[in-house]
Amino acid sequence: MNTQTFPSASPVRRLEPAASWYRDSIAVDLHACPPLAGEVRADVCVIGGGITGLSTALHLAERGHAVTLLEAGEIGHGASGRSGGQILPGLGTDMATVEKALGREAARDVWEMSREAVRLTADLVERHAIPCELSWGYLHAAVKSRHVRELKAFRDRMARDYGYEALEWLEGDALRERVVTDVYPGALYEREAGHLHPLNYTLGLARAAQAAGGQLHEHSPALAIQRGPKPAVTTQAGRVRADYVVLATNAYQSGLVPELSGRVMRAANYMIATEPLTADQAARVLPHNDALSDANFVLDYYRLSASRRLIYGGEVSYDGREPRNLSARMDAKIARLFPSLQGVSIDYRWGGDVAITLNRAPDFGRLGANLFYAQGYSGHGMALAGLAGKLLAEAIGGQSERFDVFAAMPHRRFPGGRRLRLPLLLLATHFYKLRDRL
Ligand SMILES: Cc1cc2nc3c(=O)[nH]c(=O)nc-3n(C[C@H](O)[C@H](O)[C@H](O)COP(=O)(O)OP(=O)(O)OC[C@H]3O[C@@H](n4cnc5c(N)ncnc54)[C@H](O)[C@@H]3O)c2cc1C
Repeated sequence: MNTQTFPSASPVRRLEPAASWYRDSIAVDLHACPPLAGEVRADVCVIGGGITGLSTALHLAERGHAVTLLEAGEIGHGASGRSGGQILPGLGTDMATVEKALGREAARDVWEMSREAVRLTADLVERHAIPCELSWGYLHAAVKSRHVRELKAFRDRMARDYGYEALEWLEGDALRERVVTDVYPGALYEREAGHLHPLNYTLGLARAAQAAGGQLHEHSPALAIQRGPKPAVTTQAGRVRADYVVLATNAYQSGLVPELSGRVMRAANYMIATEPLTADQAARVLPHNDALSDANFVLDYYRLSASRRLIYGGEVSYDGREPRNLSARMDAKIARLFPSLQGVSIDYRWGGDVAITLNRAPDFGRLGANLFYAQGYSGHGMALAGLAGKLLAEAIGGQSERFDVFAAMPHRRFPGGRRLRLPLLLLATHFYKLRDRL
């Protein structure tokens, strides 16, 4: 395990309302990001202040482009500032789906780029001294015997077809040494994956983008994009004229670009943070400070913060309503896994939206010559969104080969049109929840 530690800074940037533990543990200060006012000129206008947009802005600014970024709320307002913080290679879908769509060779390129995304995250954290508690080690845990077979087959296939040797099967005492519970029959330990404080990482990217010359504007929702050879983006009090526009709004916008409507479905995911555990309690949960996800389709995932809070995610809602008794349900899950934590208090709970595509592969592309987008990470974007920004900057700089590998992935709209889409998705989710129980 290679853990990066930073002195714990007092919060320097308070966001209102303090909706999550992340927001109450901010350690990165930004220069002011005033709302856009008046007309400005930029080479590139980026819409969205999450990891995709900020990484795009940073990499473009480093290449010498003038960048203006518009964020509807505050930097990190979206999924990037609320997530489980797991930094994983791969995609939200399996590699078989990618192979079927793009062929084995392109699938290998995609896999290698997803590994690059993890390395890029580590590199950005180090290069820009981002205090985000980056730590390595991840467990992909089986919940039932079907998962044991599937995970072992996955390990074998990744070694054979992709030369990926970073997965190790653990069970019995070897597993209990990394996660102290009897619930899992086994797990894959992945040393090339880890976790971090997602909001501090996102704010760190914003700080780096500012230092590189990017202009960031909070509370500046893009209201309309004027398309054409000289595009322009309008906000309530301003306008950006640019050569290129990058849409990096993921699950958090609808309607700005009608061609994209229905290509992603918005789903809310919920998390809690417990009170800080004692050192002894933490050692009886994840003694090596790994992150963990279980192998269910509607999965649970957790990790410890540097302050030893258990950060646990795992309930989904497709209609935007918080699941009933969220804290009690999370409490019951934690107690089942770690009986010694029964009754530990849950200090925070919050939700965030993920953008899911029909095949769960990310949806990158361009509309016309100068409008680019990257969205639909399907709950697997913490590392990949950073790489997306780098690839978008490469593509705008004239080297689009790597971006185009992803952009070649075919995507279909969710069936059912506007009215039936949600009921159909709910039906599908009930099916998978049922399957998870079998
Ligand atoms: C609860 C939760 C847990 C997750 N856990 C993990 C995990 O452990 N590992 C993992 O890999 N992935 C995880 N994800 C997914 C991951 O967080 C996302 O894939 C990733 O953060 C996407 O980044 P993004 O920049 O594309 O989108 P976002 O971070 O959502 O950013 C989009 C931004 O666009 C802004 N915006 C929207 N419309 C406009 C507009 N009109 N004008 C200006 N700005 C606009 C929004 O305010 C928002 O800030 C999780 C997501 C959630 C919600």
